[in-house]
Amino acid sequence: MTFEHLGIDTQLTQELQNYNIKTPTQIQEKTIPLLLTGQDLIARSETGSGKTLCFALPILGKILSGKGVQSLIIVPTRELAKQIALEFQKFSRNKNIRTICVYGGTSLSNQITLLRRADIVVGTPGRLLDLMRRRNLDLSKIQSVVLDEADRMLDMGFIHDIETILQATPKTRQTMFFSATVPEEIIHLGRKFLSHPASVNVLPERTKEVLAQFYYTLRRNEKISYLVHSLKKEQIQLALIFCKTKHFTKTLARELSQNGIKAASLNGNMSQSQRERTIQDFKEGRFTTLVATDVAARGLHIDNVSHVYNFELPMDLDSYTHRIGRTARAGKEGKAISLVAEHEYDILQRITGFYKEKIKRLEKEDYPLLKVSIQDRPHFNRSRGRFSHRNNAEQSLQRFARYNS
Ligand code: ADP
Ligand code: MG
Repeated sequence: MTFEHLGIDTQLTQELQNYNIKTPTQIQEKTIPLLLTGQDLIARSETGSGKTLCFALPILGKILSGKGVQSLIIVPTRELAKQIALEFQKFSRNKNIRTICVYGGTSLSNQITLLRRADIVVGTPGRLLDLMRRRNLDLSKIQSVVLDEADRMLDMGFIHDIETILQATPKTRQTMFFSATVPEEIIHLGRKFLSHPASVNVLPERTKEVLAQFYYTLRRNEKISYLVHSLKKEQIQLALIFCKTKHFTKTLARELSQNGIKAASLNGNMSQSQRERTIQDFKEGRFTTLVATDVAARGLHIDNVSHVYNFELPMDLDSYTHRIGRTARAGKEGKAISLVAEHEYDILQRITGFYKEKIKRLEKEDYPLLKVSIQDRPHFNRSRGRFSHRNNAEQSLQRFARYNS
C-alpha cells in the first residue's frame, strides 16, 4: 500500500518520500480515503501511530492559497501547535500554502499580522477564542476543523472554548476528532458537532511489542536514589521523567544534576522561549534527562526518547498510556519504568489490570541510598489533633522541595 493508492496526489507523496515516509500506517490507511470524501470522523489510535498525517494530507490536498482561513486545527498545547504547524509547512513547501500557529503566552500582534494571510491555522483553544472575539480570526471560510488530542483537551477543561469555536464555524464544515482514547465526553461532543461521522478505531498492534513496561515498588524516600541508580545503569539515549507538580520538576532536575546526571526541567511556569529552548536542547542531546509534568510533555514527539520514567504515577490510566507513548515511537524500542510507592497502589492496580502481562514487576537491585531523599516524617495534623503520616504525595513532595531549596 502506498499513499498514492489512498488518493494522495503525486506532489505530496513526493514530499513525503523526501522524509522517507513511504508506507501509510494502519490509521492512515483507514482514515485518509474517508477524509478525502469529506466525511466527518472520530479516529482513535495509540500515540506515535501517525495521526497528524491522517488529517494533514487530506487538508493540504484541498486548500487553495489566499482564500482565507480554510482549515482550523485545535490542539491542547503550544508545543503541539508548533509541531503540527511545522508538519504542514514541511509538506507544503511547493504549494504556496500558509500555515500559521497561534497560542497563548506570546504577543498577539505578531500572530494577528500572520493571520491576515493564513490558509491554515493551528492553535490552542484559549488563544483561538481570543483572536476570534477580537475579530482577527475570520472563521467564515472554514471548510474543515480538526480536534487533535481531543481527549486531553477535554481533560484540560477546554470544552467550553472548543464548543464556542465550533459554533462559530460554518455548518458545512468537515469535522474530525483525533484521540488516543475515546471517553464518553468525546462521543457526546461528537453527537453535537459531527454529522454522520465515521468511526475508526485502530487497536495497538500486539505482534511487535517494542515498548517494555516495568515497575518497582519502593518506599517514597528511596525513589530519587533508585532513579539515579537506574539512569546510570540503563542504556539511555534520552530519558523523560514524569512527576506531578511543576515545582517538583525543578527540584528533581537539580537533584539529578547534583548526582552526575545531565538533567533539565520542563513545566508550565517557564516562559515560551525557555520551554522551546529546553525542548530543542533535549532533542539535540545537550542533556539526556528531561523532568516534566504531564501537561508540559503533552503531544511532544521526540524520536530518540529511549526511556520514560514515572517518578510518580499519574492519577489515571489514560495519562499513563499517554506518558509511555512518548517512547517506542516510529518502530523504535523503548522502556517505561515506574517507581511506585505504597500510596500509589490503587492506580498501579488499574494499570496492571489493563496492561496485564505487558507490564512486569522487577525486584529492585542493590543501589546506593543518596543523602538527600524525601522526608517521610510524621506530620502533626492540627484538625485531628494527632500525628499522622501524610498520604498526600504532593504535600510531601512540596515539603521536600522546600527542604532542599
Ligand atoms: P500520533 O499523533 O499518532 O502520536 P504523529 O503524527 O506525531 O503520531 O507521528 C509520529 C511519528 O511518526 C512522526 O515522527 C511522523 O513523522 C512519523 N510518521 C507518521 N506517519 C509515518 C509513516 N507512514 N511512515 C513513517 N513514519 C511516519
Ligand atoms: Mg498526535
